[in-house]
Amino acid sequence: MRFVSTRGEAPAVDFEQVLLAGLARDGGLYVPESWPAFSSAQIAAMAGRPYAEVAVEVIQPFVGDSISKQTLAQMAGEVYAGFGHPAVVPLKQIGDNDWLLELFHGPTLAFKDVAMQLLGRLFDHVLSKRGERITVVGATSGDTGPAAIEGCRGREAVDIFILHPHDRVSEVQRRQMTTVLDDNVHNIALEGTFDDCQALLKDMFNDAAFRDRVRLSAVNSINWARVMAQIVYYFTAAVAVGGPHRPVAFSVPTGNFGDVYAGYAARQMGLPVDKLVVATNRNDIMARFFQSGEYRAGTVHPTISPSMDVQVASNFERYLYDLHGRDPERLRACMAQFAEHGGFRLTNAEKAATGTLFVGCRVDENETLETIAEVHAACGEIIDPHTAVGVRAARQCRAEPAIPMITLATAHPAKFPDAVERATGVRPSLPPRLADLLQREERYDRLANDLQSVETYIADRASLTRPTEKNTR
Ligand SMILES: *Cc1c(COP(=O)(O)O)cnc(C)c1O
Repeated sequence: MRFVSTRGEAPAVDFEQVLLAGLARDGGLYVPESWPAFSSAQIAAMAGRPYAEVAVEVIQPFVGDSISKQTLAQMAGEVYAGFGHPAVVPLKQIGDNDWLLELFHGPTLAFKDVAMQLLGRLFDHVLSKRGERITVVGATSGDTGPAAIEGCRGREAVDIFILHPHDRVSEVQRRQMTTVLDDNVHNIALEGTFDDCQALLKDMFNDAAFRDRVRLSAVNSINWARVMAQIVYYFTAAVAVGGPHRPVAFSVPTGNFGDVYAGYAARQMGLPVDKLVVATNRNDIMARFFQSGEYRAGTVHPTISPSMDVQVASNFERYLYDLHGRDPERLRACMAQFAEHGGFRLTNAEKAATGTLFVGCRVDENETLETIAEVHAACGEIIDPHTAVGVRAARQCRAEPAIPMITLATAHPAKFPDAVERATGVRPSLPPRLADLLQREERYDRLANDLQSVETYIADRASLTRPTEKNTR
């Protein structure tokens, strides 16, 4: 499988390169040259099989010859055996044809573990084969960081630097990052918003000299391998409720548009997905886009679902590329308009095309709290605020009650105990392996929102560029 850049000005690359590069050199995002297709019979055959086996089926076409199927199966087996539930991503029923897909049984209790645990292994495998090292840099609004750090900690060939917006992630989220004291883990608290962190990350990738010097790589949702790993659970969940013989709808708590884009990818690969509800909090750039056809950034407001406090959705470009007939020139024109004028608008025909699959829905803070309380009262389930945004949007926007609606439960409630307690009176507790998190030693550095300072900080600490390096290869 080859991967092409959405901006059309970088060469096509193979899986190893797409894994290691993250962002393309022309500033675009990599997408597969064509979508692998699964027949109805192939999808039906996924029913009842272990998660790791289905993962190999879904991932193999993207990986191609880069990694043997046997090696991939071994990696997936090990990764998903480390999850806290034998079904890896169990489905729970919370109403008539109303389901929760629990994606939070990984080490950091958020859905991002599903992809990131695999990504860490993929990096180590590919890099050790090539005798190389990389510097992973990521920006997080809360959950990418812990999951990335857990995926990369202690890995031989990787240094990891994670930028989080100072004072804008929950204490549990911060501590899940800053209490990891492995030598290859570096936490940066940036004086700014998540979008500032993301903008700095983009600038670092666009600084070719720096990028080459530290061998920069990304684990943010712009890395294709993350999207790839997230496609898997759309397949397992759909076949569990009767797919591919009946269509299925998903409601996806959305920030950077990575998770819901994976649902779109599953549909492109043959899964009969009827609707994708794009559920946002009041940071609603994506909900507004699907309602109005206009993509226009707003200001970021802190909410009780902070992992979705995003006003520039980085994975959206991948979808936009397809929407514009995979014409990089048209894509570049849109992005240029966005950069210059802060927004752009689809034609009526384009907007109609998005509406056949996507439904945008915004949920405010009161509705989120109400939904946590409602679900708790109705069936005893405690859901986190991100999941609650998804459940509320699912119930508000579902058009076809006969079609199963699966809401992606993206975080464990104990990651957001204040909101959950406010809504239900119950304070959810952390699972035993994280019980002493609030007592552990923390380590991080606070930096100004300034490209030069951040680049210097990274270059001084990455093994590849550190002056007194012992273990450089
Ligand atoms: C990251 C995250 C989201 C948003 O996912 P995107 O892929 O960025 O749209 C939603 N909920 C939680 C808990 C998250 O960590």
